[in-house]
Amino acid sequence: MRYISTRGELPPQHFCDVLLMGLAPDGGLVMPEHYPQIDDATLAQWRQLSYADLAFEIMRLFITDINEKDLKQLVHKTYTAEIFGSTDITPVRSLNDGIIIQALSNGPTLAFKDMAMQFLGNIFEYVLEKKSAQLNILGATSGDTGSAAEYAMRGKKGINVFMLSPNGKMSAFQRAQMYSLQDKNIYNIAVEGLFDDCQDIVKAVQNDAQFKNTYKIGTVNSINWARIVAQVVYYFKGYLASTNNNQEKVSFCVPSGNFGNICAGHIAKQMGLPIDRLIVATNENDVLDEFFKTGHYTPRGTDKTYITSSPSMDISKASNFERFIFDLSGKNPEKIKTLWKQVDAKTGFNYAEKLDSIHNQFGFTSGKSTHADRLKTIAQVYAQDKQLIDPHTADGVKVAREVRKPNEKIICLETALAIKFEETIKEAIDSSVHIPVPTPLEGIEQLPQKVSIIQNDANLVKSFIQNALAS
Ligand SMILES: *Cc1c(COP(=O)(O)O)cnc(C)c1O
Repeated sequence: MRYISTRGELPPQHFCDVLLMGLAPDGGLVMPEHYPQIDDATLAQWRQLSYADLAFEIMRLFITDINEKDLKQLVHKTYTAEIFGSTDITPVRSLNDGIIIQALSNGPTLAFKDMAMQFLGNIFEYVLEKKSAQLNILGATSGDTGSAAEYAMRGKKGINVFMLSPNGKMSAFQRAQMYSLQDKNIYNIAVEGLFDDCQDIVKAVQNDAQFKNTYKIGTVNSINWARIVAQVVYYFKGYLASTNNNQEKVSFCVPSGNFGNICAGHIAKQMGLPIDRLIVATNENDVLDEFFKTGHYTPRGTDKTYITSSPSMDISKASNFERFIFDLSGKNPEKIKTLWKQVDAKTGFNYAEKLDSIHNQFGFTSGKSTHADRLKTIAQVYAQDKQLIDPHTADGVKVAREVRKPNEKIICLETALAIKFEETIKEAIDSSVHIPVPTPLEGIEQLPQKVSIIQNDANLVKSFIQNALAS
């Protein structure tokens, strides 16, 4: 398997060569040259497999330059009951009304980003050691990516993490999770701005080729290809856990921001997994909902990005979206260059001519959820099912209920646990209700925190990195 760029100027590369790459040098995103096809007999055999064995079978199709024995070990080291709380890894359960919830949020940071990031920590360490190389990870987070990256990379040899987060925009629990890590190789940087500003700084540093090479800057934000591959696995797992045979179809409903999670679902569908619809759920930041309804993609500036109670979806420029548009365009790099010129010029683009194939061939549909919807859904699920779901998952459940067709089996991906967003949960239900905290995280908000606050300026971030590596 080899990898190319959506902008067409990357000579085909092997997996390990794109593993540490952020954007491709031509400014595009890395994509596999083709999608491996899973036939009916193979899918039937996979029904028996444990999560780790299933992950191995899927990943070996994409990762062909690591020997299979080592890959198997990396996968088995990652997907354990100790790290993910149960042998199922992503257990499924049904709500009263038949909506299925697949829990992706039982890893160390209680959000779905652990699913991919824990694997990334192990495979980075493995590849860096083989190459005797060093890596300084620069990332931007609106909450969950950052802590997932830090928990995956803490203490790993040859790796430092510099994580930008929007100052004061995360929940108290999210801040505590990240800033309480005292590991020497972990640096928290709170930027005076929004998540998109942090993301822009990461891009600016990435675009300084000399700095990037000198300081061995890499990335783990959601455009990293290995993360997408790792996420493909749980779509297969969710499908297999919710069906009895391959004649059945399911739809997935995914709380979306940067389009990384649902992009993996798109790939699973392209590989032949019997997915009916891919339902994109957004919050008030609804650029994606607008696109899937109208074919107009109009990314917004930070001035039009709302701060909401599902903060990990407060994104108005979805960084993985280009991957889907590449497939939609028939893998046409010239078209992508044209469209992204319009994105860069801030006018956005109109691809309404493709609405029919967006909906019918690729199976996408969408909906949005507001603060009031979120509260109502959390309260409903609590009343009917005696369960607490987090605000992001609630956005998904709200949209799934709204668009569901008769007899449609919908799996809603649970992307975080309620305890991460205590304030919103207490607003939604009786505030005396106890919100369960997994034991290792009890009292985390009382721990001392390690964080540096910095102005919204890429040059300041560069000097911070220089200083940290010099000391
Ligand atoms: C990151 C995140 C999302 C959004 O996922 P994308 O891959 O950016 O679309 C949704 N919910 C939670 C809890 C998250 O952490």
